[in-house]
Amino acid sequence: AKEQGRNQMEAYQPSMSHMADERLALERNLRKAIERDELVLYYQPQIDLTDGRVCGMEALVRWNSPEHGMVPPLQFIPFAEECGLIVPLGDWVLRNACLQCKHWQDQGLPALKVAVNISTLQFHQLHFADKVQAVLEETGLEAKYLCLEITESVAIQNEEQALALLNQLTALGISIAIDDFGTGFSSLSLLHKLPVHQIKIDKSFIGDKSPQGAQIAKSIISLSRSLNMNVLAEGVETEEQYDFLAQHKCDSIQGYLISRPVSAYEFEQWHRARLN
Ligand code: C2E
Ligand code: CA
Ligand code: CA
Ligand code: CA
Repeated sequence: AKEQGRNQMEAYQPSMSHMADERLALERNLRKAIERDELVLYYQPQIDLTDGRVCGMEALVRWNSPEHGMVPPLQFIPFAEECGLIVPLGDWVLRNACLQCKHWQDQGLPALKVAVNISTLQFHQLHFADKVQAVLEETGLEAKYLCLEITESVAIQNEEQALALLNQLTALGISIAIDDFGTGFSSLSLLHKLPVHQIKIDKSFIGDKSPQGAQIAKSIISLSRSLNMNVLAEGVETEEQYDFLAQHKCDSIQGYLISRPVSAYEFEQWHRARLN
């Protein structure tokens, strides 16, 4: 009876070792997923507000798991960051995003820039700039079509190293965007020092219905202007938000109003249809 009681307890309250087992299993599955090409990239268009044209796309990873179906990135990216798998995963994303971008150019579609998310750990790995250069050479994508999205925390963590690396990367000809801008704690003096081309206003400000959200968006737009940076608003879902951003001279937008992130196939259909 005592034995039975204990088993029941275990069934209802996962013990620490049980959780550790689960993490190990997840790590193993994710590692296999990378090797077996179970990861897929979705693409979300970016629109130039001055002419309404598609100017780029952000690559967003999903895990097409045979067990769980299409798993969204927030369910495995934070874990991949913790266990270090973000480095091989990030390599896979970078390489495949560049390949797809080059492939579309080879098909004669108007050349678009591809934006790739880079985690802190990935960014600070040894010889990251050399890796990026090697991927460009291998895929044949010109550097000017690649944009790396980093967050403010990447730059804060190791300011000197980040600055040196960003200079190395921009010397290759690629551009840098600061993602989720306004949610971190970077100082304006730091931002001013970094070779950054674009600021992405975090979607929380765009979706904020209070006057403060709009005020912050306006402030970030004028800040970008004065720093000579391009500014993109993410998470644009309504016509009102679109009009507000156009009126305040935001350069470009991204969001469900234009399109959700979609598979490469769907993106291509969507892009072709829009050209006609
Ligand atoms: P993020 O880089 O800020 O990407 C934007 C997220 O907002 C995406 O979620 C996108 O689907 C979503 N989004 C786009 N438009 C709208 C909109 O109009 N409204 C709302 N509510 N959401 C919108 P997703 O694809 O689930 O990605 C979540 C996060 O996962 C990303 O946030 C990024 O931090 C991370 N992530 C995705 N792919 C990668 C990757 O390849 N590498 C790394 N390191 N992180 C990635
Ligand atoms: Ca992003
Ligand atoms: Ca973002
Ligand atoms: Ca984010």
